[in-house]
Amino acid sequence: MRQSLQSAKRIVIKVGTSSLIHPNGMINLAAIDELAFVLTDLRNKGKEIILVSSGAVGVGMHQLNLSKRPTSIPEQQAVAAVGQAALMNIYNHRFISYSQQTAQILLTRDVIEFPESRQNVINTLEQLLAMGIIPIINENDTVAVDELDHSTKFGDNDQLSAIVAQLIYADVLIMLSDIDGFYSDNPSTNPDAVLYPHVPAITQEIMEKAGGSGSIFGTGGMNSKLKAAQRIFDINRAMVLANGKQPKIIFNILNGDEIGTLFKKGEK
Ligand code: ADP
Repeated sequence: MRQSLQSAKRIVIKVGTSSLIHPNGMINLAAIDELAFVLTDLRNKGKEIILVSSGAVGVGMHQLNLSKRPTSIPEQQAVAAVGQAALMNIYNHRFISYSQQTAQILLTRDVIEFPESRQNVINTLEQLLAMGIIPIINENDTVAVDELDHSTKFGDNDQLSAIVAQLIYADVLIMLSDIDGFYSDNPSTNPDAVLYPHVPAITQEIMEKAGGSGSIFGTGGMNSKLKAAQRIFDINRAMVLANGKQPKIIFNILNGDEIGTLFKKGEK
């Protein structure tokens, strides 16, 4: 089953903040550079690549020398606005060093739910892919807040990446996290937890194995990754959850090596 990943053409990659920011709050330049190298090489092989990247608040905290995430929403939005520009600057710099053009796309949930703007998003993404450009997508934190009558938030980038994969019928969503895959229990609290190489469906039993979020910067947690996987099951595609410590792992995943957890219908 993993072999079919070799022929994946349209690939969405989601990186969490923990893959981009060191635990001490500094920017992980090596990881960002490796990511740019890997994604450009895949592009050079003829793959269509979309990157969904978190990290705006983390990078903004670094830019502004903040040791704690601000608590008020306007403060978080201000930090994200600083960080988003700085993050894109780093990405552009690294991708351009490999002669790869990128583009920034900032989305909110209402845009995806309104048919006309949804179609505009699809058109832009399709056009960028046709031009060989790598779109780098994030939630538009300036406008994305939860209001009663107007939901603009995706929740987190796990959902955003799965929704993007749905919009353009990606063959595979590669979700890079701070953990090696999906375990029988939260490995940070249960040392006996075992890694599941394959999950063929999101059942109640599977949902119950997801504990809370492990990182101080991330917002998703394992629950949110399972919800994202359900979206991928809905379009009958594949999702791989793996550790983003070394982005070169993406090559192995697409080679069909048994790495992380494959979420895909059918027998292993
Ligand atoms: P990221 O921001 O890197 O995407 P998250 O903090 O959102 O990461 O989610 C990964 C974390 O989820 C892990 O570090 C782990 O602590 C926690 N977790 C809870 N339940 C599980 C489980 N069953 N398998 C793996 N990780 C789990």
